[in-house]
Amino acid sequence: MKDTKFVFVTGGVCSSLGKGIVASSTAAIMKAANQKVGIMKLDPYLNVDPGTMSPFQHGEVFVLDDGGETDLDLGHYERFIDTPLISDCSVSSGKVYSEVLAEEREGKYLGGTIQIVPHITDKLRSKVELAAKKLKVDIMVVEIGGTVGDIEAEPFFEVLRQMKHKYGKNCLSLHLTLLPYLAASKELKTKPTQLSVKELRSKGITPDIIFCRADLKIPKKLLKKVAYFCDVDDEAVIPAETVSSIYEVPLRFQQSNLGNILAKKLDLGDLTFDMSIWENGVSKRKKAKKELIIGLAGKYNELDDAYLSVIEAAKAAGVFHGRKVEIEWIDTEKIEADDTEECQKLESVAGIIVPGGFGNRGIEGKIKVAHYCRINKKPYLGLCLGSQIMAMEFARNILDIKNATSEEFHPKAKNLVVHYIPEQRTIRKKGGTMRLGSYPCKIKAGTLAEKVYGTQKINERHRHRYEFNNAYRAEFEAAGFLISGESPNGELVEIVEVTDHPFMIGSQFHPELKSRPFEPHPLFRDFIGALV
Ligand code: GLN
Repeated sequence: MKDTKFVFVTGGVCSSLGKGIVASSTAAIMKAANQKVGIMKLDPYLNVDPGTMSPFQHGEVFVLDDGGETDLDLGHYERFIDTPLISDCSVSSGKVYSEVLAEEREGKYLGGTIQIVPHITDKLRSKVELAAKKLKVDIMVVEIGGTVGDIEAEPFFEVLRQMKHKYGKNCLSLHLTLLPYLAASKELKTKPTQLSVKELRSKGITPDIIFCRADLKIPKKLLKKVAYFCDVDDEAVIPAETVSSIYEVPLRFQQSNLGNILAKKLDLGDLTFDMSIWENGVSKRKKAKKELIIGLAGKYNELDDAYLSVIEAAKAAGVFHGRKVEIEWIDTEKIEADDTEECQKLESVAGIIVPGGFGNRGIEGKIKVAHYCRINKKPYLGLCLGSQIMAMEFARNILDIKNATSEEFHPKAKNLVVHYIPEQRTIRKKGGTMRLGSYPCKIKAGTLAEKVYGTQKINERHRHRYEFNNAYRAEFEAAGFLISGESPNGELVEIVEVTDHPFMIGSQFHPELKSRPFEPHPLFRDFIGALV
């Protein structure tokens, strides 16, 4: 633990500059030099975790193997460093405050006065150290959410200051800022960066490396100016110019020698960085030019962040087959209302994904989408809710089970082909009502699922309450709706497929969470494979 290195990433000037990508790229570069890296996020918001936050506001909830419901940044982290993370890698103010307050109620502070400094900051620091210890990493990259100067983020910056004091040269501070472009004077400006660093220094933190985000190429003399005014080494001002794909960022940073600069500052000796995975992956992505249009029939239309991992997985699968996937959003409420234009989309797209979701809205439209795909033999990939939709459609139209539905939508209905299994509560992690995190699944021989995975034993991540109703199993299977994957004890249905169809498959889990940019998840890979 003593030798663990901590690399903090903070942001200034404004939000949305891509701190998560800077943090992920930094971690990826160090991993390319065989360092054992971890990466975590400190989020200033007061929610205990993002599990209850609306995808409208906060994007998708990314679920980890251990059932942690985290911010979408953790998805970027895992995709960039190709390493599963743990719940400890996602820490919000809410989580820390609630723990400290609970301890106070238990009398753990022996009547002392509880304060932000030292109690909240100590707890935060211990969380960073604990995550590094649990992951047994050489280098822990820590992203601090928000922007320097935010009221909520103050304790986080104090933690960074304290850790720099405690760990000395084993703790670095990386700061990302913006060089805005002024069209009238045709130049990029450094003043906001200078002010942001000034703000950082007022908290007792001097940055070791500054990343300058800009939409244009940054002249060398401007980088030097930033170094001079912000008091960092010339070589430690790294341009972060806007690129067409986030996966180019590690390569760009390496062109500026980021890996060696970090190695020098962290006293890691001479390291060799093998960036070939990135070079090959990025060049493959660039070559995939021919468009392939996929329909995405979700609830949060046009909101890429709400389906970030699904879109990333589909795009990676496209690249695998040399194609550039474009998403066509299908509004299932409009499909429900038989809107002609929307219904035409079902025809024009190559295949359709029905992603995960909660709540009633657009459900009947989604059932129509599944119906269209089954009848017209259009490739269909159902993710969690999308697999439940498959079951409802099949039940209504093939098994003639009138109004077949899920307990989620009509709790009092008779024909619940998808329902809540109270006994399963005991196997659920954390005692909640949702099945969260990684669960094993055994795949039946001779099925499409087996062909896709090339194995009969898999582990996948879940986030749902309802399950396929076993009372209907035999009826479904006899009619060509195959249960091709189930829990090892056979009680929970995990994968379903329609046999008389080129590719119609649904998973009760979320395969997108384990897909990688240069190694798409097999379900996505073969779904796209069925379209090209
Ligand atoms: N709402 C469904 C359930 O809870 C599906 C959830 C999901 O798609 N993640 O079972």
